[in-house]
Amino acid sequence: MTAILAIHAHPDDIETLGAGTLALLAESGHAVTLVTLTAGEGGATDTTPDETARIRKAEAASAAAIIGACYRCGDLPDLGVFSDDASRRRVTELIRWARPDIVITSSPADYHPDHEATSQLVRDACFASSVPNYRTGEATALEAIPHLYFMDPIGGRDREGVPVAPDFGVDIEAAFATKHAMLAAHESQVRWVARQHGVPDQVASLEKWARRRGRDFGVAMAEGFRQYRHHPYPASPLLQQLLGQALLTPLAAS
Ligand SMILES: [Zn+2]
Repeated sequence: MTAILAIHAHPDDIETLGAGTLALLAESGHAVTLVTLTAGEGGATDTTPDETARIRKAEAASAAAIIGACYRCGDLPDLGVFSDDASRRRVTELIRWARPDIVITSSPADYHPDHEATSQLVRDACFASSVPNYRTGEATALEAIPHLYFMDPIGGRDREGVPVAPDFGVDIEAAFATKHAMLAAHESQVRWVARQHGVPDQVASLEKWARRRGRDFGVAMAEGFRQYRHHPYPASPLLQQLLGQALLTPLAAS
């Protein structure tokens, strides 16, 4: 059994970009933990930030429970994720608590500042997690830096609209119903996403993106990922090896 930790900024980001793959991994018997660094408390007009945070955390926990995963929130402020000393220690403590072999986080380039800051925080916290004298709380240091992967950015593009190509894909057609159910657990998001993002049907948008990414790999539906292989992070393809037949390599020119 391999321990996998997915960390993104807001409730519903993991469901949008990685839940199909996480569902497949959970079904194979691997231990999956989901973390959002914020509770998404800014994303509402009819509830207070505290009420919204409570609702969003409960929805995220319900979504995680669908695949038998546990959920924790980092309680950083929505639209207030920055790579600073206190936040890096908090994220490092979360990684040490989850004790993952594999960490999957947001893309370094994405449309939302919290997504980009989350990516940087998680990358640096993975390094710090195995440094015993870097003190973060009760959890002890990891033995080694975990394998690190990035999900696609929203829409597969950076904030200038430039496509971000994945290293590999995962065929999620068999897990799409589960991914859909996980997103649907975020009931309070629907009105907000329609208002702020101009997306009237979030579930239809989810399917459209899965099919769009699927075309890059010649399958019906896919999620894309990149591995961070730079010194001194582990470069062996640990996640790819867990995926078996679901692992996809990109078609020549996508
Ligand atoms: Zn987000």
